[in-house]
Amino acid sequence: MGKPNRFLWALAMLFLRPWYRLRYGLRIDRTGLAGLKGPALVLAPHISGKDHVLVGVTLSKYRPTFVLSAHFMAYPQLRWALRRIHVITKKMFCSDAHTIMDILRAKNEGNVIVLFPEGRLPACGHSMPLTAGTAELVKKLGIDVYTVTGNGAYLTFPKWAKKPRRGKIRVSTAKIFDSAELPELDVAQIEQRLGAAMAHDDEAAMAGVTYRCKDMTAGLDGILRRCPVCGAQGSLQTRGGRIRCACGLDAVLDRTYRLHGAPFGSINEWFDWQQAQIDPYRTAMDSEVTVGAINGRGNLVRRAGEGRAHMDAEKFSFTGQVFGREVSFSVATEKLGGLPVTVAKHFDIYSGNILYHLYPKPDPRAAIDWVCYLDRLHELQGQRGTETPEIQAESPAGGTAGAVPTLSEENTEQKTTGTAEAPAGCAPAEVLANTMRRENQ
Ligand SMILES: [Zn+2]
Repeated sequence: MGKPNRFLWALAMLFLRPWYRLRYGLRIDRTGLAGLKGPALVLAPHISGKDHVLVGVTLSKYRPTFVLSAHFMAYPQLRWALRRIHVITKKMFCSDAHTIMDILRAKNEGNVIVLFPEGRLPACGHSMPLTAGTAELVKKLGIDVYTVTGNGAYLTFPKWAKKPRRGKIRVSTAKIFDSAELPELDVAQIEQRLGAAMAHDDEAAMAGVTYRCKDMTAGLDGILRRCPVCGAQGSLQTRGGRIRCACGLDAVLDRTYRLHGAPFGSINEWFDWQQAQIDPYRTAMDSEVTVGAINGRGNLVRRAGEGRAHMDAEKFSFTGQVFGREVSFSVATEKLGGLPVTVAKHFDIYSGNILYHLYPKPDPRAAIDWVCYLDRLHELQGQRGTETPEIQAESPAGGTAGAVPTLSEENTEQKTTGTAEAPAGCAPAEVLANTMRRENQ
């Protein structure tokens, strides 16, 4: 697998460390990493889009091996750098056999492996459930496990915001498991301790700290979609530090992220309330979409096609044209682990290991509605005790490590029906657990 290129890594650290320290008030407490040596696993809550930098700077002397979403490889400049940093790629919520092999190789090489077990970056300021199989991954790898938490990273770099803020970032570290105790613990015990270690609420962690920027609420209407006063969906307008609705709601978000003039004290409370209002068994999602997809050269094309997306409690489906060809697929919602989102732009879905960016029309701010609909459905199914579906590692380890699935002549016209060829809604951890389970049988 290899570690990051020594020269490139040193150069990046030389600039990033002082920049984050001066610009964003970064301070790092490494006491929880005492005694760390490879092979080791670092599981970090995904708090901001800059987590890789924060964790990288924190672990700089170990030159860690990152497990990253494969979609980063669709950007040519980034691809050049990531190949030299020797990242392990995974397709989000997809079975991906080469990811598992790469993690095992990195372990055998004695590397420090960094993984974000929520599988995606939350849109609001608190953590999401861990992807199924994370505890099994920990159990089976059998190496020391640590965590690195970038407190204040969401408040500095909110996923929904157009610009970063300046305040404080306090990185904390801790050891979660010693390799020696793992054989004694069962998966449920590991799951419990992991869940507690990964649970994070950035608003609570940095309560009272001031974050400065020109406009506190610019972009917030990409995640706050429902008015708590009149109940209207998509009616909120956020700018100038305020959140307004046609019904007369006029709330202010102050520089410590406290809300005034709304029924909620914080964005997280509003977001969670909004989520709880969704009834996926009585409503469905449906929208015209423009489609972004990856071309034959592995690069992302923003306007690759158009179509219609639909989702109900049973399945997600798409029909349309991509690169001039007819494409249609459907995936059972129970097979979808979650929908990654770029706020106010698009949500992402894989079909047959091909990535599609779907931009809802006419208002792409609705992208988050699709994400929340599916999350709410899973939440309700979890409460009803529905088991996470068994996922099979069916994906062939085709291509070289880090290759991006491309929409070539051969595989453009895919017609998947039901769940037969649908991508498995799973994280690499799940696949690893299943692969190992089969090997052990
Ligand atoms: Zn309203």
